[in-house]
Amino acid sequence: VIEIRDLHKSYGPLEVLKGVGMTAPKGHVLSLIGSSGSGKSTLLRCCNLLEDSQQGDILFEGEAVHWKGTGLHRHPADKAQVLRIRTNLSMVFQQFNLWAHMTILQNVMEAPLTVLKRDPKEVEAKAREYLAKVGIADKADAWPAQLSGGQQQRAAIARALCMEPRALLFDEPTSALDPELEQEVVKVIKALAEEGRTMIIVTHDMKMANDVSDHVVFLHQGRIEEEGPPDQLFGNPQTERLRGFLSATM
Ligand code: ATP
Ligand code: MG
Repeated sequence: VIEIRDLHKSYGPLEVLKGVGMTAPKGHVLSLIGSSGSGKSTLLRCCNLLEDSQQGDILFEGEAVHWKGTGLHRHPADKAQVLRIRTNLSMVFQQFNLWAHMTILQNVMEAPLTVLKRDPKEVEAKAREYLAKVGIADKADAWPAQLSGGQQQRAAIARALCMEPRALLFDEPTSALDPELEQEVVKVIKALAEEGRTMIIVTHDMKMANDVSDHVVFLHQGRIEEEGPPDQLFGNPQTERLRGFLSATM
């Protein structure tokens, strides 16, 4: 679904991604791990064009992003393409960013109604279906502030699902949660993985990465230091850096 080739990204003089390549094929779960500041969130944001990049290619379902300009002046050239890619890659953030002035149901319905201009009746049916799927059907008419952190994050996942995207992108979906609430969200992510959803997950949770991933990418200072299937990466790390990272986090 998503392919990145030799991607370079700088913030002014600071080069954050130094030639990263990765592929998330349809139905696969790819986890991104690495220390704070290694570029995980930046890479994820580049995938759905929330960030510009200076060099390299981004392909969505085989279709390359068109660019205009070069270097720090490079931007996507085709607005319709950006919108198409962005609506097909739904992002779930660490902070769930629900609209405080809308009920949970309204939050989940918002983007399909306003961005995709879908029929309200159909959207409502879908929204209720996804709220049930993440286990909070009974919270449809509650306000975000009335939900626990774990429930709010599950609402955010339902909201992402309601766009019926080709892939889901998660940026540390459990790290703002207490351990017991974290497990509710991990359970939902595991169920989505079992359904064969395409997902890219940035996480500090090595156990979840090990359980749900088809492929794990270890980023270090803007480069891929090591990658492979989870049993290899966690069971038999090859590089000193990954061994050091794992012993510090597990
Ligand atoms: P964490 O695990 O802490 O979330 P990360 O791997 O997600 O870290 P990024 O957020 O991708 O790291 O940041 C990579 C580098 O880019 C860091 O050095 C950070 O300070 C820098 N950076 C990120 N966003 C910006 C920005 N908008 N402007 C300038 N520098 C930025
Ligand atoms: Mg981050």
